[in-house]
Order: sequence, then C-alpha cells, then structure tokens
Amino acid sequence: MSRRPIIAGNWKMHNNRAESAKLVCAIKEAIQDIDKDALPEVVVAPVFTSLGVVSENICHCGCERIKLAAQNCYFEPKGAFTGEVSIDMIKDFGAKFIIIGHSERRQIFSETDEMINKKAIAIIEAGLTPIICCGETLEQRELGVTDSHIASQIVKALDNVKPSDIANVVIAYEPIWAIGTGKTCDSTEANRVIKVIRNTLAQIAGRENAEKVRILYGGSVKPETIKEQMAQSDIDGALVGGASLKAESFVEIIKGAMK
Ligand code: PEP
Repeated sequence: MSRRPIIAGNWKMHNNRAESAKLVCAIKEAIQDIDKDALPEVVVAPVFTSLGVVSENICHCGCERIKLAAQNCYFEPKGAFTGEVSIDMIKDFGAKFIIIGHSERRQIFSETDEMINKKAIAIIEAGLTPIICCGETLEQRELGVTDSHIASQIVKALDNVKPSDIANVVIAYEPIWAIGTGKTCDSTEANRVIKVIRNTLAQIAGRENAEKVRILYGGSVKPETIKEQMAQSDIDGALVGGASLKAESFVEIIKGAMK
C-alpha cells in the first residue's frame, strides 16, 4: 500500500500577517521547480489571523504544492461561542486540513476526547480532513501505558465515524515529551507506536481502511532526523513545529521526505 507522505508545518502562535506571507512565499519559491509527483503533500497551519494572507499566497495563486490547514476549530456551525472559529469559516479560506487534539490544546485548554470526536465528525461532514493528534506524557511512558493510552485516544476520537471516512483521516503521533524539547523519539520506537495506532484503526475500521490512513510522527522533527523517520515502514510524514518556522529547515524536511 503506498501512502503519499505529508509534511505539515504547525506554526503555533507565531507570525503576524507580514511574517506569515514572507514564510509561505519563501517555501513556495523553494519548492516551485520540484516535480509535483515527487513532493510529499506540503501543508502549512498558520494562526487564524494569517489564514487569509497565506491563502492568498497559495490557493488564490494556483499554487498546487502547498495546502492550507488551521490549527483548531469549533464543532458548532455558528452561535454564541465567543472566541471560537467554525469549520465553514476556515473552509472559506480554502483550507483542506484542520489539526485537532494537539497536546497543547488538550493540556492548556482542557480539550477532552469527546470534544475532539465532535470536531472530527464535523470536519469530515464539511469535506475537510482532520489531522488528529495523539501522544503520551513522559509519566505515561514510564508507567508502561503508552500503547493503551494512544489506542484509547484513537478509539474515542473516531467514535461514530464511518470506516470509509476513517480511511481518509490523518493521524499525528506526537509523544508529548518530544514536542518542542529537542528530544526526538527513536524512529523505530515511533514506528512501533504508529503500528499500534494502525492495528487499532484496523480493529475499528477494517484492515483495508487502516492501511490507507496516513500516520505522521511529530516531536522535534529536524532536517537531520527526517530521512531515518521516513525510512520506517509506517511513518507517513511529519507534523513539524519549531523547524517549520524557518523556510530553510522546513524545505530541508520536505526534501528529506521526497520519493
Ligand atoms: C508540534 O507542535 O506539533 C511539534 C511537533 O512541535 P516541535 O516540532 O517543535 O516539537
């Protein structure tokens, strides 16, 4: 089963509009002459306030090499939800992906598995693709509950999602102790956990659908680590935080994930 790799940059709460435009243009320029079929699917997730300017620099210019994502959404279509942004509002910018369940959202903003499931269902209904994050804390890893914790996060996030829709979601395995710490999870261990995720998906959606799901690794991915990560059987790309904030390092990671 060949799955097209994805390299997604999560810009987190960085970059105003001018900085976002500069970054996306630099990425665009660096990859514009590369054969499209050799490139991984390249995704950038700016802050909500930069969705417009990034969209203008990619979607509206017919750049097929970069896709737009949001870092979060709310599951209700509209109403009295101060500070939230709906999926249709994000879709309006031409976004194709929405990251949900990032550990920063779970830990800092108390997002629950139930909320993440509601978001996943609403994103799929809107015709977009959720990038569903999961991952264990260092404490859970040391207690030996990594696999059961991750399996439970996946089962809960995809409750009531049709097996054929599960085939199209993207999962990001992001051990929390590796995010923003410079400590990358060993590639073979990341691959092992990703296989646990794929087996969990097979139990809920069937093996054929599970084999189609792209599962990314995230956690201090750098230009120096990507080749080894991509050489693993089940790692289908990367969700990149810090190293996606500089065009040079992000482009190196993209190139490292090329066929
Ligand atoms: C992330 O925020 O999803 C992430 C993986 O960050 P970093 O690459 O900086 O560890």
